[in-house]
Amino acid sequence: MNTKAAVLRNMNCKFPYAQSRPLIIEEIELLPPGPDEVLLKIKAAGICHSDLSIIEGVRPRPLPMVIGHEASGEIVEVGSNVKNFAIGDHVVCSFVPSCGECLPCSIGKPSLCEPGAISGAKGTLFSGAQKIKKDTEFFFHHSGISAFSEYAVVSKHSLVKIKQDIPYEYSALFGCAVLTGVGAALNSSSLKMGSTVAIIGMGGVGMSALLGCIAAGAKEIIAIDVNDKKLEFCKELGADLCINSNDPEADHKIKELTHGGVDIVLEFAGHPSAIEFAWKITKRGGEIVSASLAKPNATFQLPLTNLVTDEKKISGCYMGSSVPRRDIPNYIDLFLKGKLPVDRLITHKLKLEEINESMDRLKSGEAIRQIIMF
Ligand SMILES: [Zn+2]
Ligand SMILES: [Zn+2]
Repeated sequence: MNTKAAVLRNMNCKFPYAQSRPLIIEEIELLPPGPDEVLLKIKAAGICHSDLSIIEGVRPRPLPMVIGHEASGEIVEVGSNVKNFAIGDHVVCSFVPSCGECLPCSIGKPSLCEPGAISGAKGTLFSGAQKIKKDTEFFFHHSGISAFSEYAVVSKHSLVKIKQDIPYEYSALFGCAVLTGVGAALNSSSLKMGSTVAIIGMGGVGMSALLGCIAAGAKEIIAIDVNDKKLEFCKELGADLCINSNDPEADHKIKELTHGGVDIVLEFAGHPSAIEFAWKITKRGGEIVSASLAKPNATFQLPLTNLVTDEKKISGCYMGSSVPRRDIPNYIDLFLKGKLPVDRLITHKLKLEEINESMDRLKSGEAIRQIIMF
């Protein structure tokens, strides 16, 4: 079948993207789903900072690629070997496929699924197939999803079935922003009721983490960013304290206000300086969880002595260390009960044709989460 999609052919376009237009809306051909794949009518797709990182070449991918990795939709066709999904099911896409059989999947760490990581890096579906083409040219898939498209062929391993009573524009958020942000707080950190938490990098993922920490009963939550407008909004969402990290006294202020530092820092800024800042504001015995995706060659320096004498911990967290089939339905239930109001993060709804403009709004910090409605 033919469908309309946003294709990235060049990672060298300059900002502003409304002018350079890195994403081209093209009519492409989708080949039929294989035995373990489905055809999905994409209903809503979120614009994530990772999409912008690909456009900017910060996280290079094979091209041409149909990008987009945060989406929800309705299944319109199933492959012959698909048993757990049916036509008409509502699903959220997971940006790491989980095979259910490799060692990480077997021990409950599907975010580290081994064949899932391989197919994601190659830019194929889980099966290794490429189902997007135009004339004789095959396109790459983004995270096995390629969501900026009216339709997508997706592996059953990349899907989570959800309730039908959540609107698509909200359910899409659970595929990346909420899964990563809330997961970093609930799965990766030792957060418990009464913890003090600092969150660095208040985009859609950081703000999802903020809402997750509130839901989990954190005693004090400090939002940290370089954008005062975002910090004001964090205050409205329920942050106890908002600190602009451009303030040269920021780390001292936080240590003073928290009597020596916070229990947990959740880091989503994706820059070495953010980790180094996190280190300074973590109390003795505290921990840092980094869930950001920095440049591939980024490194950071920390004082080794304090690591030992202060017993600080630092860990990485991919996809919120989530089990998507467990966590996405759980988080959606919390949302439906009003306990995880992630709909408040949506600042713009747009058409696929406006996608380049949306990248400008994301880069300038004007937008939090923007949703393409199909
Ligand atoms: Zn994302
Ligand atoms: Zn696996």
